[in-house]
Amino acid sequence: MKVLVPIKRVVDYNVKVRVKADQSGVDLANVKMAMNPFCEIAVEEAVRLKEKGVVTEIVAVTVGPKASQEQLRTAMALGADRSILVETDEQTQPLGVAKALKALVDKEQPDLVILGKQAIDDDNNQTGQMLAALCGMSQGTFASVVEVADGKVKVTREIDGGLQTVELTLPAVVTTDLRLNEPRYASLPNIMKAKKKPLETLSPADIGVDLTPRVKTIKVEPPAERQAGIKVASVEELVDKLKNEAKVIS
Ligand code: AMP
Repeated sequence: MKVLVPIKRVVDYNVKVRVKADQSGVDLANVKMAMNPFCEIAVEEAVRLKEKGVVTEIVAVTVGPKASQEQLRTAMALGADRSILVETDEQTQPLGVAKALKALVDKEQPDLVILGKQAIDDDNNQTGQMLAALCGMSQGTFASVVEVADGKVKVTREIDGGLQTVELTLPAVVTTDLRLNEPRYASLPNIMKAKKKPLETLSPADIGVDLTPRVKTIKVEPPAERQAGIKVASVEELVDKLKNEAKVIS
């Protein structure tokens, strides 16, 4: 069984992002980049399925700039067997990425595609759903448990106030939630081995996809600055302020 794992290069989650002065986006100059955390969970899940003997091949794929090779090498150090970069310097957007992934699905014919539920840079939460629609595949989103057996995948989904379990016929699309697993760290020997694993580079034209952005960002703003707090001298003063100034109690 073959699994395709789409991963995205994003600003590392530890970085405190700064909005550019012209409000056109986030400043990416000299900022540490990393694999999107939900994609790390997707890679880990694929690797665990391979360790269980369910999966035989894991292909990590990404749509992005040349530098995204770094994240593909990380995916291969974590256990992916090979990888494909669809190289573009355009800002990637979910519909364009889903179309590129559909072309890779047609080429690779995977039984399962495991994506992150969302990329932490744009918080779109759209690509997996769009890919499933374009491929006519069933989808299990926000997975917290994934079980593959007898040509089906059972996905336990985290929904408001509880869990829902759905059964999908393969091939299918699954997107990962935070509690699905805890990704491992790549060991040094595996990082070295990953350098020799195959990494194929394709252009959008090679797979017949136009990645020109369709959505225009009008403005990006940082959250409003929080006002400084004050110290109160007594519980009475606190209650008085909550009642008469903040008006949150009566
Ligand atoms: P999004 O819909 O942008 O929030 O992203 C959800 C998931 O889609 C990510 O966790 C990735 O698995 C996948 N994805 C998004 N953008 C890309 C990209 N440029 N290349 C490969 N996979 C992507």
